[in-house]
Amino acid sequence: MHLAFLARLSLPSAAMRGTRSSSRTVRASRAELSPPGVRGVKRESSVSSDISKSDMVASVKRKKVKRVLQVNGENPKKEVDIVPDIEDFRYGKASPSLISLQKNVRVPSVVKVGAPENWEAILKGIKNMRLSGEAPVDTMGCEKAGSRLPPKEKRFAVLISTMMSSQTKDEVTHAAVERLSEKGLLDPDAIVRTDEATLANLIKPVGFYQRKAKFIKEASKICLEHFGGDIPSSLNELLALKGVGPKMAHLVMSIAWKNTQGICVDTHVHRISNRLGWVFREGTKQKTTTPEQTRMSLEKWLPKDEWEPINPLLVGFGQTICTPLRPKCDLCGINNICPSAFKESSSPNPKQKKMRSS
Ligand code: SF4
Repeated sequence: MHLAFLARLSLPSAAMRGTRSSSRTVRASRAELSPPGVRGVKRESSVSSDISKSDMVASVKRKKVKRVLQVNGENPKKEVDIVPDIEDFRYGKASPSLISLQKNVRVPSVVKVGAPENWEAILKGIKNMRLSGEAPVDTMGCEKAGSRLPPKEKRFAVLISTMMSSQTKDEVTHAAVERLSEKGLLDPDAIVRTDEATLANLIKPVGFYQRKAKFIKEASKICLEHFGGDIPSSLNELLALKGVGPKMAHLVMSIAWKNTQGICVDTHVHRISNRLGWVFREGTKQKTTTPEQTRMSLEKWLPKDEWEPINPLLVGFGQTICTPLRPKCDLCGINNICPSAFKESSSPNPKQKKMRSS
């Protein structure tokens, strides 16, 4: 644990940062996090645009606009600058994960349940469908970042790639990493010496590229000053970096440090786990509403040796077959045992329906 780094996080400015960060979260929700034309995101904020700053702060306090994370049961309180995932905007409404940015989310421990019925057959079926390795994540995921670099440089590349990956397709993130590599910028010292606008232009069109350029520069400075140019090696130290949330921190721990401490639940893992009936809210048989709930529910029963591979497995499955909109249930090899088969497909294949009912 790097005490100086963690101590800096709890300096007196932290109290002020709470206020600033809260209002920043609101501003981000209203302006930066809302792509043009996306109505649903408006629902995130009920703060009128013409109220004063102090009113806004007070309102924010009343509404407890904080995001409190519970990581591995340690429940470290931290306000997080996170950009939402790409599928958060696809349905034209505020998704649970977006809404959670403005709520005081205390994720409860999930009720102890046994492993879901047929989970091994389902997992085996998905693995079979993924044998072709044709999903974007298979060649352009964060796991591939800096694959030809020495370990320390590769770890930094994984962190930067992961920070760029939210709200961005794998292909776009991969291309941005390549451009940084060509300019010799997969290096914290080089990034610190590069001005923010240049960095932003280089990673464009990564989603929220301007905010991410700022976060990447800040993270690079911390890597240099507190970790000897390497990246943080603990979950909490990673979470202390702006722009890094639980999903990213778990992914970086798994890929960069080969130290899987939890399941990396992104939007694909969250969606598919719910479709498969693998996860539940505490004490209920209802779907989980946040990736953190999904992570904790999955970790209750999924064998630990599946924690690391489950992410790329389901991400690729979600990119190719169990897609966010109109999943291709007619092509899916587990449509005879999936509880959600053909429920969201626009045009179920009659033959498959017949097979399923037989
Ligand atoms: S049957 Fe449909 S909903 Fe179920 S896992 Fe396959 S694609 Fe997804």
